[in-house]
Formats: sequence, structure tokens, C-alpha cells
Amino acid sequence: MPTSRPPHDLPGRVSRVVVTPVAFRDPPLLNVVGVHQPYVLRAVVQVHADEGLVGLGETYADQAHLDRLEAVAAALPGADVFDLNGLRRVVVEALGASTGGAGASFGGMLEVSSAVDTVAAPFEVALLDLQGKALGRPVSDLLGGAVRERVPYSAYLFYKWAGHPGHGEDDWGEGRTPEQLVAQARRMVTEYGFTAVKLKGGVHEPRHEIETVEALAAEFPGHALRIDPNGAWTVGTSIEVAGRLADVLEYLEDPTPGIEGMALVAERTELPLATNMCVIAFEHLRPAVAADAVQVVLSDHHLWGGLRRSALLGGICETFGLGLSMHSNSHLGISLAAMTHLAAATPNLTYACDTHDPWKTEDVVRPGVLEFRDGSVAVPTGPGLGIELDEDALAALHEQYVTCGQRGREDTAYMRSIVPGFTPNTARW
Ligand SMILES: [Mg+2]
Repeated sequence: MPTSRPPHDLPGRVSRVVVTPVAFRDPPLLNVVGVHQPYVLRAVVQVHADEGLVGLGETYADQAHLDRLEAVAAALPGADVFDLNGLRRVVVEALGASTGGAGASFGGMLEVSSAVDTVAAPFEVALLDLQGKALGRPVSDLLGGAVRERVPYSAYLFYKWAGHPGHGEDDWGEGRTPEQLVAQARRMVTEYGFTAVKLKGGVHEPRHEIETVEALAAEFPGHALRIDPNGAWTVGTSIEVAGRLADVLEYLEDPTPGIEGMALVAERTELPLATNMCVIAFEHLRPAVAADAVQVVLSDHHLWGGLRRSALLGGICETFGLGLSMHSNSHLGISLAAMTHLAAATPNLTYACDTHDPWKTEDVVRPGVLEFRDGSVAVPTGPGLGIELDEDALAALHEQYVTCGQRGREDTAYMRSIVPGFTPNTARW
């Protein structure tokens, strides 16, 4: 009986998988659980196929996550590069054997009950990159085709210290007052052309953060504004802030923790509520829809199991009349390319996507593709993700990982090393 095998000039099987942890410099950006450490840890996944092609993926690099990635990397050789359902099976089996399939946690802010989606994601992206390279088509084509040539991104403002203690002042300087945040936004809007602006909140008392948003609204009329305090506010405060900022925000992101709390806020405001905290996995969709807790879901292929699972999320959002935006963690160019292909091929992803890109000064991807213009990135048109790995940069950032001493994301512990007694601000205000 004939078996369905790719033609001989297509890569058939995975031959080798390499997972490389890297560290890149990051400014002291403040959030509800603390402050960004001096380095961001990421893992670069390279999936080699037996015809010499290499597919790329990128994900988190906390030690527990790295252990799971390594378990999959060991099990994947021999897999068909076009069998994405088979990849999932390999991940389930590898996690069952190596880790008990336990859940995953991210920077102390997010929890999911299963690690399968987060572990599968970078391998799925790498296999799609391989498929695209083999077929001579961009990944957006494999996701159904790009419905937009450029993907709009949002400026991502942070309250921040002037620099990491002991490292001097960084390029951005202090970000504490509304005037300083307006200056930060002005620089990002000037350099990148963003027309959407997001403020990471939950750092100062709500009154201070409201004043910052109002200063941004006055300075950037017509820009789409968002604030995300990561659940730092009570239900009552959230309703109050929503009332005060109803005319200047396009959505309010995670004002208070949990589906129940968000539903109570949603009942009392016309402002759409967005989330990447109470709905971060398929298991959260049903209760969130039942409670009418959120109006916009922030997708994130790193969390939701890759690009095709994120497209599935897009379909579910469409079914239930939910808006769709995109979340970002600090990332390198491999992830930016994947995010751009996904957003380009997701028709109902109509909001500008989040990105930490402006804060990044180092990368593993060769420059040229992924440039920002008018606040957007052109969808790469080359085969696969359409980007090229810089092997020297990868080696240098891996060396930085080895020497930096960080082995996980520890915003709270790092903050406490500087501000003893700091406690995360969950619904404090
Ligand atoms: Mg968020």
C-alpha cells in the first residue's frame, strides 16, 4: 500500500534538534510583580531536517521549561516535518515521561494547567519554517495566506528606573512622571511610527497612572491608547478608572484578577476589557465566555501552542464575538517574525499587536527583514519565516547566558534585592 511521503526533494524527517538558551540585555522595566532583570532569557530552537534545511523557533528559557524542551528535542528526530499533529503526540509523551506533564508558570504572573502548548509552540514554529523553506513559500501562506501586507504593532511604554542599579543610566533614562512617559512615547512614535500606545501599569497608585494616560491622550490625539495594570486594582477601582478613561482608551487590559472579577467590572463599563491573564489557555475560554468577562483576548503563540493553535483561537473568538489582539513578552527576531506571519494570516486580529522590540538592543536574527515603518512590520516574503539566523550572534548571546548567572525570570526576587519588603501588587489598589 502506498504511504504518503513527501517528494524526494522535500525534507522528510527531522534529523537533529538543538536548543540554545540565550540572554540579551533588558532595561529595568517595572511591573506589578517587580522589575525586569538585567537580562531576558530565551531559548532558540533549531530543527534540522535530513535534506540540510533548518527550521527556527523561539520560546522562554526558565530552567524547568528548558528541561522540557530538551526532552522533546531528544524525542523528535525521525518525525515527519509535515506532521504537526504527530509533534503534539511527541510532546505529550515526552512530557509524560520526563516531567509528569505538570503545568507551567511565567514570571509569577500566569499559570496554566498543562505545559504541552507552551512546550510544543517553538517546535511547531520551527517545523512550519522548515515546511515553508522546503516549499518556497512564507509561513503566512501555510496559515491560509496573508490578509494584510503589513502588521501594525503598538508602542509599549513602561515606568522604569533610570538604569539597573550599579550599571549607570540607560539610553531611555527614568520613566516615572507623566511627562517622562510622554517623552518615552514621543521617542517610540517618532522612531517607529506607532499609532497605538500601550502603558504597562500597576506600578504606581491608580491616580498617577490615570494622569499618565490623560497626558498621553492630550499629546497623541487620535492614537489608540491602552493601559494594562496586570490585575493591580480592586473591582471597585477598576470600575472607577474605566469610567474616568472611557473616552480615551480603546481597551482596558486586565484591570483586576480572575474571570469573576473581570466579569464584575465588565458589567459596569462600556469599555472593552482585554486579557492575557485570565484567559491564557483553551481551558479558560468556556468560563470566560459564560461570564462575559472579557471582550478582547490577547493571543500569544508561545502560550497557545503555536501558530495553528493561535489561528484556532482566532476562530473561537470570532464565533463568540470576542475581539482579538496579541500579547508580547520580551522577544527576539525569530518570535517577531512568527508573530508577524500569524497576525498577517489572522483576519480578525484587528488590533495593533504588542511588542517589546523597541527595548531590545541585541538579536540573533540578521537585520534587514522586520524593520518598523509607520508602526508596522512588512510580512516577510522569503521562504518559511523569511529570516536568517546570525550564528555568531547566537554564540555570543549563549555565552552571555552562561556568564550572566540568571536561570529563570525572577522579577519579584530581583526587585526585593533592591527594594527589600516589596510585595507584588495583586489587586492592592
Ligand atoms: Mg497584559
